[in-house]
Amino acid sequence: MKTIVLVKQVPDTTEIKLDPKTGNLIREGIESIMNPDDRHALEAAVGLKESLGGSVTAVSMGPPQAVDVITEAMGMGADRGILLSDRAFAGADTWATSFTLGKAMEKIGDYDLIICGRQAIDGDTAQIGPQVADYLNIPHVGYVFGIEEITETRIIVRRRLEDGFERIETSLPALLTVIGELNVPRYAHVGRLIAACGEKAAIEIWNAADIGCQTSEIGLDGSLTHVIKTFAPKFKRQGEMLEGNAAECIGTLLGKLHENRILQRMDH
Ligand SMILES: Cc1cc2nc3c(=O)[nH]c(=O)nc-3n(C[C@H](O)[C@H](O)[C@H](O)COP(=O)(O)OP(=O)(O)OC[C@H]3O[C@@H](n4cnc5c(N)ncnc54)[C@H](O)[C@@H]3O)c2cc1C
Repeated sequence: MKTIVLVKQVPDTTEIKLDPKTGNLIREGIESIMNPDDRHALEAAVGLKESLGGSVTAVSMGPPQAVDVITEAMGMGADRGILLSDRAFAGADTWATSFTLGKAMEKIGDYDLIICGRQAIDGDTAQIGPQVADYLNIPHVGYVFGIEEITETRIIVRRRLEDGFERIETSLPALLTVIGELNVPRYAHVGRLIAACGEKAAIEIWNAADIGCQTSEIGLDGSLTHVIKTFAPKFKRQGEMLEGNAAECIGTLLGKLHENRILQRMDH
């Protein structure tokens, strides 16, 4: 089983703060980590390799320091690591990011399965997995929390729904986006981490030319969406305590809802 895992480096927080002047993400003082869902994707891929043989390739698109998540992925058991890093990739929206990752998948070429996290904790769109699958014209199953059966040509997975689950069989190659319920990720093995950091480690750095991208297709130029302004919403909530017993409070509340035209009176 030849599996590719997409891993993203994200700030170690879900409380993203924006610089009010520039509108950019404030990254200073915030450590970077591997996106939590991606650790589950890696665990699944390494587990498949251990039971069926094959290989795991970890791929990330990001600035040079994103090499850290590739190193960690290799520490967890990935055999090959590729970082897509080029100034031309900067400013990419999800469309341009998916296109770039899709081009890298095409260059890698020989794969049975691609596994991504469902969602990154910074961008939070959950668009990358489905978009990469669409670009590659392969099936996609989202919210995967169980892999039941896998052969050289087919896979059966369970995907979480709000009120239960679906059992889905699809052909390979396919792309899965996975959720934390899938497994318990292992820690990176110290020996493997040292090997990945050492000279022998072959973490490949690919630029736009390496994957055959024109600058007009990637980064800010290739993005279909453009951010005009970013701001953190200001909440001006004011609480009000209603006095009296339950019936009186309900009466006062209804009066206020009508007064503020939240409820309309129905006169028959
Ligand atoms: C208009 C616009 C401009 C933007 N400009 C910038 C910018 O200048 N700089 C910037 O850093 N971001 C920028 N972004 C955000 C960037 O596009 C997203 O972070 C990126 O496309 C991934 O989307 P997401 O974080 O929502 O990932 P999701 O779709 O939530 O992630 C799902 C899964 O996809 C995989 N994945 C996601 N991103 C990557 C990646 N980069 N490498 C490997 N695997 C990945 C992971 O497995 C992840 O778990 C911009 C977004 C928009 C809309």
